[in-house]
Amino acid sequence: MVLRTIERIPLEGKRVFIRVDFNVPMDEYGTITDTTRIENAAPTITYAVERGAKVIVASHLGRPKGKVDRRYSLSPVARQLPGILGKPVAMAEDCIGQRVAEKIDGMKEGDILLLENLRFHPGEEANDASFSRELASLADVYINDAFGAAHRAHASIEGITRYMDVVGAGFLMKKEIDCLERGTAANPERPSIMILGGAKVSDKIGIIGHLLNEVNTLLIGGGMAYTFLKAGGVKVGKSLVEADQVDQALRTVSEANRKGVKFLLPIDHVVGDRFDPKATKKVVPNGGIPSEWVAMDIGPKTVKIFLDEIREAKTIVWNGPMGVFEMEAFAQGTISIAKAIAQSKAFSIVGGGDTVAAVKMAGVADRISHISTGGGAVLEFLEGKSLPGIEALRERREER
Ligand code: AMP
Repeated sequence: MVLRTIERIPLEGKRVFIRVDFNVPMDEYGTITDTTRIENAAPTITYAVERGAKVIVASHLGRPKGKVDRRYSLSPVARQLPGILGKPVAMAEDCIGQRVAEKIDGMKEGDILLLENLRFHPGEEANDASFSRELASLADVYINDAFGAAHRAHASIEGITRYMDVVGAGFLMKKEIDCLERGTAANPERPSIMILGGAKVSDKIGIIGHLLNEVNTLLIGGGMAYTFLKAGGVKVGKSLVEADQVDQALRTVSEANRKGVKFLLPIDHVVGDRFDPKATKKVVPNGGIPSEWVAMDIGPKTVKIFLDEIREAKTIVWNGPMGVFEMEAFAQGTISIAKAIAQSKAFSIVGGGDTVAAVKMAGVADRISHISTGGGAVLEFLEGKSLPGIEALRERREER
């Protein structure tokens, strides 16, 4: 998909509204615990500053539910930004209104103004037209660099683009779309494998359905594997099963077979006598999960089979851990997969908060081709859904 990117838009002297994803994790004292999201947006902001734009930066943070709630103020971000950008940053007390407009009027080329949390106004999540128009009135150019929020039809993502003449994608947005498209393209470099794990089948079964034509092999681990195993008549004890997904799981497996896609489920398991980091654990083959025990990780034989597939692959997309990796005793399967992907020469994409955390835990984040910043946005992209934030940029491009 060709999008107009920031590089193709004249910015000098223009008021440029950049929608970023500064929805950073914070501890109970309001201290930011991970600044990755801020760092990811820095290239677009810096580029606009260097081109002599008046840079207006806007984001949501948490779920203040349309009301001003100081716990969700972006001021901690405003304090971190100058250190990351190497430039001073002013903060507005709101994201719309007379006083914000006056602040923007007083901006000089190269100045940066961070607006307060967009979600302090109910109009943001409601994609309200008058709120969208108010946001649009603040700027001449709209740039969306918030891939992590691109699946939301919110005012600062979708509504605003209806009232702007010039809209485009920032560098992060562009990179996300290019990489995800490369990983899921109609004809990816083959063998192409998709590794899915995590807790919920219902979250991911749509992805399997959408990508069956694009992948040669599916490797399924994590809690979601047990719904498939149960569907196949394997005894899974007290392991995670989504009973209402069993039929769909069966249909998915037979469709994969029909299309000649290799569909690999775990053949052995690390099980615990309870769902607990200190549980007694043992390795059992399929059929050997005791009725009161819980499968918490893929077993060593499964790891070996998965690793053989990963070594051969040219394209790898991974979403969802192979086990309860937050508990050290059950992290081995996930860590092994992360390391194997890092060692492979394939074009590799890792998406989803937990999976990214696992890759960092394994110490191999810098050897993955693309680590996606999106959670829900990645899932929807992989499912083939159209994302409002991306569509809004594309439609505008085609109108011109
Ligand atoms: P998701 O958000 O669907 O990707 O799920 C991630 C979560 O799945 C992590 O918190 C893991 O602890 C959890 N998970 C992975 N494997 C299992 C398992 N076998 N049983 C229960 N939870 C699991």
